[in-house]
Amino acid sequence: MTLVGDVGYGSGSAVGGSTSLAVVGAYVLAWELIRVGGDHERAVPAHERAMAEHVRGSREAALSAAMTLIPRSRLGLRGLAQGARLHNSTTADDHPPS
Ligand SMILES: Cc1cc2nc3c(=O)[nH]c(=O)nc-3n(C[C@H](O)[C@H](O)[C@H](O)COP(=O)(O)OP(=O)(O)OC[C@H]3O[C@@H](n4cnc5c(N)ncnc54)[C@H](O)[C@@H]3O)c2cc1C
Repeated sequence: MTLVGDVGYGSGSAVGGSTSLAVVGAYVLAWELIRVGGDHERAVPAHERAMAEHVRGSREAALSAAMTLIPRSRLGLRGLAQGARLHNSTTADDHPPS
C-alpha cells in the first residue's frame, strides 16, 4: 500500500505547493507502475524514493511560510488585522455581493 497527496505527505493548507505535490506524486506513481509493468512491489518503493526529497523540501518551505505568515506577538497580530482591513477596504468593489 502507498499513499499520495495530502493523505500521504500534505504539508499543510495555505502554504503553497501541496496540490503540486499531490499531482506530481500521482504522476510519479503511475509512471513507476508503467515502468515495471504494474509490479507494485517495485513501483511503490521507487515512487516513495522519488518523492522523498520533494516532500522534505515542501515541509521545510511550509514551516518557514507558517513562521512568516502567523504572527507571534500582539504587535504582529495587530499588523495582520490592519493589513487585512486595508486589503478588504481596497478590494471591496472588486467582489460585489451576489
Ligand atoms: C483552506 C485551504 C487552502 C489551500 N490552499 C492551497 C494553495 O494555495 N496551494 C496549494 O497548492 N494547496 C493548497 N491547499 C491544499 C490543497 O487543497 C491540497 O493539497 C490538495 O487538494 C490535495 O489533493 P488530494 O487529492 O491529495 O486531496 P483532496 O483534494 O482532499 O481529495 C481527496 C478526495 O477524497 C474524497 N474522499 C475522502 N474520503 C473518501 C472516501 N472514504 N471515499 C471516497 N472519497 C473520499 C474527498 O471528498 C476528496 O474529494 C489548500 C487547502 C486548504 C484546506
